Amino acid sequence: MNNAITLPTAPRRFRMFIGGQFTDGAAGELSTRHSPGHGVPVAQWPIGTADDAEHAIREARQAFDHGPWPRMSAGERAVVLFKIADLIAANADELGLIESLETGKPITQAVGEIDGAVDVWRFAAGAARVMKGDAHNNLGERVLAVVLREPLGVVGVITPWNFPFFILAERLPFILAAGCTAIVKPAEATSGSTLWLCELLAQAGLPPGVVNVVTGRGAVVGQRLLDSDSIDMVSVTGSTETGRKAIAASAGNIKKLGLELGGKNPHIVFADADLDDAADGVAFNAGQCCVGGSRLVVERSVAEVFTAKLAEEMCRIRVGDPLDARTQVGALFDKGHMEKVLGYVEEGVRMGATVVCGGGRTGDERGYFMQPTLMTGVHPDTPLLREEIFGPVLAVVPFDTFEDAIAIANDSIFGLSASIWTKDLSKALRAMCQVQAGRVWINTTMDNGPETPLGGMKQSDLGREAGLAGIEEYTEVKTAHINLLPRARWIA
Ligand code: NAD
Repeated sequence: MNNAITLPTAPRRFRMFIGGQFTDGAAGELSTRHSPGHGVPVAQWPIGTADDAEHAIREARQAFDHGPWPRMSAGERAVVLFKIADLIAANADELGLIESLETGKPITQAVGEIDGAVDVWRFAAGAARVMKGDAHNNLGERVLAVVLREPLGVVGVITPWNFPFFILAERLPFILAAGCTAIVKPAEATSGSTLWLCELLAQAGLPPGVVNVVTGRGAVVGQRLLDSDSIDMVSVTGSTETGRKAIAASAGNIKKLGLELGGKNPHIVFADADLDDAADGVAFNAGQCCVGGSRLVVERSVAEVFTAKLAEEMCRIRVGDPLDARTQVGALFDKGHMEKVLGYVEEGVRMGATVVCGGGRTGDERGYFMQPTLMTGVHPDTPLLREEIFGPVLAVVPFDTFEDAIAIANDSIFGLSASIWTKDLSKALRAMCQVQAGRVWINTTMDNGPETPLGGMKQSDLGREAGLAGIEEYTEVKTAHINLLPRARWIA
């Protein structure tokens, strides 16, 4: 156990945030999160009800329809967003600790994500002032057309457990920059950092009701947001199954949806790649991350040598106590999730696959730690290659030609991300154009920045987040034609 950061002696107590007030909600029931790396209780927050969700929707609606936020200039909104970014930066260590304890991810990664989130809040604050309409003065001398961009309205934001703070940062500041108001429903088990953020929103002077946070079950609080006729858009980040529920529910008032869902992302490694570098990149974060690689599509002539290199790298990954600054891979989310991931490995073996590295539990038994796992000889129909495992398991599929590589990479219902490893630039660019993925990396993986839009293809996504597209998502476009000359009468 790392001595620098100690485990809390009692769970940290959080409250929901509705209409600018901290509250335990209508039922007063509490949920307790145990650290998946240590097995001790680390946080508590209310289990919100459908009534709490309704209360938050009313507050957000009131703040949008009658409050100051949508009516301020973008410059005034930017000032508040910059203040929030500064406050997040000042609280980065504390927020990182909350994230690490609740998700099981390594503390260095967690703090790094908070720093990344500050950057996104700052980008969105600046971008607020760039968002604008358009004028068309090329329609003839009689007509001038103007295009207005208006804030979309009240937005529900439903987030997953794996990147609670960063995923929120890729949505909430853009929603606020556009002039919308929001109700956030964080994941049941990792709500702490979102609730802590509410303190910072209040300190920065965000008007009451502009952001409301209701914790609780997806099927209760989340579903109420999806079903509500008083909400104009819901952004859901989570599994493809939850995305399907959102699509079904949106029929009620034809609300707009933003969906960021699952992935089954390929690393395509060509024989001419820098194999040492590629092995390091492929080994990185093959785990509980939506855009992390989970299929290794490797050219057959180097498959054996590359797999051996990769296995060597993966065996050196430091798995263990999330609070130890040296740890590279922390704990799985909970016992059920760990058993599910181990089940995928067992089923793969039953269908003929070989475990080249890892394959089982490791470390302190109070935590849910699993060895980074590499599997070869994988049957094409095994769920290992088809389903999102969301654990540190990488399945190897060899290919013979460029066309095979692309066909294998694209043989998935998902299209979130892909990484391409080769020294041949024209081959890299051809692969970049042909691979079906919203995010592509060449000779690198998982690079990111708030300037660039992100999202996926096929069943991974609907809409885009971040970049200027990230604000456009939360605006309505209104077009007006203005007559400049006396009208020719229709009825003579
Ligand atoms: P999940 O789908 O179980 O839950 C996500 C959120 O949806 C949670 O807040 C949950 O409470 C809520 N929810 C569940 N059922 C609901 C319902 N009926 N109505 C409304 N809300 C409901 O996902 P998870 O296990 O928290 O997160 C892992 C998943 O998220 C993976 O599939 C991963 O790929 C995906 N993910 C995608 C991205 C991306 O950018 N594409 C990023 C992170 C995670």
